[in-house]
Amino acid sequence: MENCLFCKIVKGDIPSTKVYEDEKVLAFRDIAPMAPTHILVIPKEHIGSVNEVNAENAAIVAHIFTVIPQIAAAEKLEGGYRVVSNCGPDAGQTVHHLHFHILGGKQLSAEMA
Ligand code: AMP
Ligand code: ZN
Repeated sequence: MENCLFCKIVKGDIPSTKVYEDEKVLAFRDIAPMAPTHILVIPKEHIGSVNEVNAENAAIVAHIFTVIPQIAAAEKLEGGYRVVSNCGPDAGQTVHHLHFHILGGKQLSAEMA
């Protein structure tokens, strides 16, 4: 996707602070952290949001969820963490490339909405 910020990060056209990378997945630190640890985990292939997950691409999402606990362990989030994916305008999605926020390193707010 030509104008997609996270596709540009995958290509290396925009710098990021990488914390994990494999053939299919990239994880990097959020530029405006909302918690002491705030990491974004994304598929390298462009998927617009949770709404675009389907039978063909669901394996990448399953893979991401095997990577997330590895990142949490590497970041020493022993106390726990939250995984969030904003989908669409009501959720405040600003980057239209599927991403999972990992938030941790403090007692997170009980407010979910
Ligand atoms: P969302 O609001 O769920 O779409 O999340 C998009 C996230 O991307 C926000 O938390 C932003 O702070 C983050 N973000 C935007 N641009 C960058 C960037 N260049 N590098 C790292 N994170 C970014
Ligand atoms: Zn993209």
